[in-house]
Amino acid sequence: MPTIAAMKELRRIPLSGPDITDLEIALVNRVLRTPYLSMGPMIEEFERAAASFIGKKYAAAVSNGTSGLHLCVEAAGVGPGDEVITTPFSFVASANCILYEGGTPVFVDIDPETLNIDVDRIEEKVTSRTKAILPVHIFGQPCQMDRLMAIAQRRRLRVIEDACEAMGAEFEGRRVGSFGDGAVFAFYPNKQMTTAEGGIIVTDDVEWFKLFRSLRNQGRDENGTWLHHTRLGYNYRLDEISSALGVAQLQRIDELLNKREAVAGWYTDRLEQIEGVETLRIDSKVSRMSWFVYVVMLSPELDRNRVMGELEECGVPSRPYFTPIHLQPFYIDRFGFKPGDFPITEAVARRTLALPFYGGLKEEEVEFVCRSLRAVIGRQCG
Ligand SMILES: *Cc1c(COP(=O)(O)O)cnc(C)c1O
Repeated sequence: MPTIAAMKELRRIPLSGPDITDLEIALVNRVLRTPYLSMGPMIEEFERAAASFIGKKYAAAVSNGTSGLHLCVEAAGVGPGDEVITTPFSFVASANCILYEGGTPVFVDIDPETLNIDVDRIEEKVTSRTKAILPVHIFGQPCQMDRLMAIAQRRRLRVIEDACEAMGAEFEGRRVGSFGDGAVFAFYPNKQMTTAEGGIIVTDDVEWFKLFRSLRNQGRDENGTWLHHTRLGYNYRLDEISSALGVAQLQRIDELLNKREAVAGWYTDRLEQIEGVETLRIDSKVSRMSWFVYVVMLSPELDRNRVMGELEECGVPSRPYFTPIHLQPFYIDRFGFKPGDFPITEAVARRTLALPFYGGLKEEEVEFVCRSLRAVIGRQCG
């Protein structure tokens, strides 16, 4: 007889998981049979495929999403004293990349429904020091790029899209990542597609593209020799094994996104009927959502920590996505932010809960998560 602990382990549903098939394994094996483990043909194939998928001229693969964002901020010419407008409701990397270049993140509170930057409040934060806007397509839902790009054009600002959670998402029929001067996608194993670690920058600007290729490769110029460094660069290269994963996953991207969309649909159908749980609103101009995580908002009177703890006892992990960036300890130390600075972000962040979510989740498992959530909430209300 298995122990109760072992049975719980068996029933435990993972929070996320990659979707790897024989195609990925075959391509990775093919790389391992060549002498080219870095800077070979696979990265170039991955870049060609990604540029064409997003609809930009150039793509530069990099070691992760954070390094891609850093290079975009550098390309936009952000330096000490310069300001970049972004959202406090995101993963910390989307503001850290501004700090790497000595710039100042200027946060704008979010829309309480889509959880994306509130475009109506951007322009009042533009100053003579503003260099760029860095919108984040949070949880895979595109920002209002039509209005955001209009502001950027009017105020002559660069736009860097943090599309790290939004591979394949579309706004008014156009893929995210195709709007800004530069855009970054990330491929950590919990994202819609993965390269293990990895990211990619897309742009139409050939000068940016050349700069990215140099900066990711220790500041070498295209035609220089191996030990000739033109500028301060980094090692932000993506290896051939990761690139092979990327090539295979990009071939399967529609399948990957469709599976996730189906899982999200199973969740929404069930959760809309549970009192105390709110599902995400999708903007009417979003023509395709690319589901990164499945996040619900609990009613304010529910104790989220208790809900998480009791779900865990049922074998259902969950996470409070995200803690506002401005309330991360070192942002408080460095900039003096305090609770109340961005009230909508804070109110949302107090009640969000990310449930187990990935393409391989089965309908019975979604049913189990939803039943567990209903039971846990029922106990708290009753
Ligand atoms: C995942 C993610 C990144 C960057 O991720 P890496 O782990 O560096 O690949 C950046 N911004 C957002 C919003 C993300 O979700």
